[in-house]
Amino acid sequence: MAFTKKTVRDIDVDGKKVLMRVDFNVPLKDGVVTDDTRVRAAIPTIQYLKEHNAGIILMSHLGRPKGDGAEPALTLKPAADKLAELTGYDVKFVADTYGDEAAEACAAVKPGDILVLENVRFLKAEKKNDPEVAKKFASYADIFVLDAFGTAHRAQGSVVGAAEFIPAVAGFLLEKEVDTLTGIFADPERPFVAVVGGSKVSSKIGVLENLIESANTLIIGGGMAYTFFLAKGYSVGKSLQEPDWIERAGEMLKKAEEKGCQILLPVDNIVADHFGEDAEGVVVASDSIPDDMMGMDIGPETEKLYCDAVKAAKTVFWNGPMGVFEIEQFAHGTQAVAEAIADSDCTSIIGGGDSVAAINKFGLADKMSWISTGGGASMELVEGKALPGVEALLDA
Ligand code: ADP
Ligand code: MG
Repeated sequence: MAFTKKTVRDIDVDGKKVLMRVDFNVPLKDGVVTDDTRVRAAIPTIQYLKEHNAGIILMSHLGRPKGDGAEPALTLKPAADKLAELTGYDVKFVADTYGDEAAEACAAVKPGDILVLENVRFLKAEKKNDPEVAKKFASYADIFVLDAFGTAHRAQGSVVGAAEFIPAVAGFLLEKEVDTLTGIFADPERPFVAVVGGSKVSSKIGVLENLIESANTLIIGGGMAYTFFLAKGYSVGKSLQEPDWIERAGEMLKKAEEKGCQILLPVDNIVADHFGEDAEGVVVASDSIPDDMMGMDIGPETEKLYCDAVKAAKTVFWNGPMGVFEIEQFAHGTQAVAEAIADSDCTSIIGGGDSVAAINKFGLADKMSWISTGGGASMELVEGKALPGVEALLDA
């Protein structure tokens, strides 16, 4: 599906000042960025703006400040330094966001300059999307650019505010994320196989229901499988389960059949008598989980079934691990499915915090077509929801 909003390509930025909301919410250790994925992801748009002679002002949040003033541990300075290191550009930083110091620094920005403002969440006003904050942001620049896909689902000051007062367009990361994640519903190359795992049915219900509409096959793994087992009348012992969601899970199985979406559930499982690093796994069939055991991973037969389905796919969307992958002896199912996706020529799209962590842990990131930089935002798109940040932009 074509992106329906204007991007930086559709607006004249030459000699203009651009305020860009990026997602520099990076992990820090002792004031140093430990994973620069998000900084790298913002570079194409920054480069484009610089090459097109715009003055660039960047803003972002980082971590979870209390919202009543500066917190030295959560300053954006390390992210600004990382940007300078990765691009070789001269990157200025101002330890202010809403005050006179920020306003003066923004006023001094010349074409080709890059200025990073301090963490937008040092003040509560950001989260409340206070109109005064929005006006302030808009006063810094001529054009607003949203490239912070990871926060595009939040109607907060730095995400949607300025768009009310100055022309607002998308950056390349935002465009690519929205295009890719909505594309699996618009016109996926088929067969389209969706793989959904993770802990709970309740947190993924919108994702599952929307995927049934588009996918040829929906593979279910992880803790959520056990609520589906209950819907099929199997007993699940001490496995993770959500009794309130059994009916809904059953309805989903029926609906999938009506829609012609094949649902695959585990045929066997690795179970253990307790949850822990020292737990020992045993393989059991899905209809014979002992009362005193809990499901920790998909079993070997299921692994084969799922890998075969993935290998036959032209498009794969994956969210949620197949088992408790944080514990080595229960990571096998997740790793096997991840490797099958990595080895295939299909278009592979990965979303969700823990799934991405798993892919990185297995060293397979380079082999995927697209790894979403947004957890919550990517899930909302896959649920079929509109993102407030995107809605606020100019229509193409
Ligand atoms: P994502 O962040 O990729 O969307 P989720 O947050 O939904 O994924 O789920 C990830 C969590 O699900 C992991 O911490 C994993 O340990 C847990 N999980 C997977 N399988 C099981 C299981 N059988 N029992 C309990 N927890 C599980
Ligand atoms: Mg998660």
